[in-house]
Amino acid sequence: MRYNEQDLQILLIGDYALHFTELGIDTRLEKQLAHQGITQPTDIQAHAVPTAIAGHDIFAQSKTGSGKTLAFLLPAVQRVMKQKALSKRDPRVLIVAPTRELATQVYSQLRLLIAGTNISAVKVLGGENFNDQIKALRKDPHFIVGTPGRLADHLSQRSLQLSGLELLIFDEADRILDLGFTDQVKMINELADHRLRQTLLFSATLDHAQVDALSRNLLRSPKQILLSASNEQHSDITQQLYLADHLDHKEALLEHFVKQDNVGQCIIFTATRADTQRLSQLLNDKGFKAQALAGDLTQAKRLEIMDAFSRENFKILITTDVASRGLDLLSVTHVINFDLPKHAEEYVHRIGRTGRAGFKGTAISLVGPKDWPSYKAIKAFLNDELSFFTVDGLVGKFKGLREKKPNTVWKKAEKKVAAKPAKPKRKAAPKKPKAPIQAPIDVDGFAPMRRKKKPEQE
Ligand code: AMP
Repeated sequence: MRYNEQDLQILLIGDYALHFTELGIDTRLEKQLAHQGITQPTDIQAHAVPTAIAGHDIFAQSKTGSGKTLAFLLPAVQRVMKQKALSKRDPRVLIVAPTRELATQVYSQLRLLIAGTNISAVKVLGGENFNDQIKALRKDPHFIVGTPGRLADHLSQRSLQLSGLELLIFDEADRILDLGFTDQVKMINELADHRLRQTLLFSATLDHAQVDALSRNLLRSPKQILLSASNEQHSDITQQLYLADHLDHKEALLEHFVKQDNVGQCIIFTATRADTQRLSQLLNDKGFKAQALAGDLTQAKRLEIMDAFSRENFKILITTDVASRGLDLLSVTHVINFDLPKHAEEYVHRIGRTGRAGFKGTAISLVGPKDWPSYKAIKAFLNDELSFFTVDGLVGKFKGLREKKPNTVWKKAEKKVAAKPAKPKRKAAPKKPKAPIQAPIDVDGFAPMRRKKKPEQE
């Protein structure tokens, strides 16, 4: 983290066993939380809630599933309940989330908190009817929860004004920037830029050049809250990796895992939308209740599927990274990476769909030849030797790929060959392609990969 240390006060983590009222939370809100079975603050809540109530800007790092949503919603609702508004018309709190799913999740938690109060909230998401949103915005809601693109559209059309905004919150700021919403964030910041604005910025990682730059623009003398780095191990999640030769082998392993007795609800991640459909079909054919959730579905359909999954109407959800952030269900016992994600941080977010709020979870990853570079990146990111396991009767031949090492002798030989003028080719019967060079033992101690099998079709 390259933040100027003079600008911030770093809060240290302690062991907290507090009640919400001790953090300055109103008893009405505490009761509302108790209805949801939430009685003790998590670490991030214990730090962020009193800091935000005291009026400070916050730059917080928090792992997924840590309770970060309530860490910003509680002080926000409390503020609207207790303090006089700066403007009668403009929204008082704006929460910006990277994806529709996450924004919907935040909005649902907010609705629970404000139930029975006169506080109003509106959701402004891409993919939903623009005119309906204009009508809802005309009712001057206190809270707006939205995705950056659609918020910027409303700002451009002046159907949304932010000059009276009191609290600006960014959830998963790293993801917002990774998705390319820098200009929209700047626009929101500029249109809500006044002395009295408070800003809370939450990110899975603070060590992110763009988030770092953004925090300097957006935040004033922020308190930095560093709880759990995104590359720290999730202690409630058991991670298991299985080597797979090819697609058929992955499917056999998948079937083996989903039929285990200890599997409650399960989320399977694939690399492509097409695979979500294919695996859903395959698992349904085998008698499992599975549904695909892919980015090309309409927003209404996506919400319908997520809602059905949250009601446990079906057991297996198959999805791509699109939905990985918004899914917040305590009943998910297993995450299965049918394919590994390209980016190591995405792996952390995926496995964070299980083992939430103190529950135990298992993350299973299938690693085929195509996944090998991702596996290496994830292993390096987590500073950890991820362990490989095997399933009796389903042990394949693939044992990992070798590290590419520069071979100078070979390079010289290549140059010599290149220098010679090319001989005219004689017409000859087509030869069989040569067998590929066998890879030496991988640095991890795996035997060379055999290449006899047909290539994976992922
Ligand atoms: P989040 O990290 O905000 O996505 O929250 C993860 C899950 O933890 C959600 O289901 C919350 O309802 C739940 N949760 C949040 N705060 C608490 C708490 N203090 N005690 C128990 N569960 C909580």
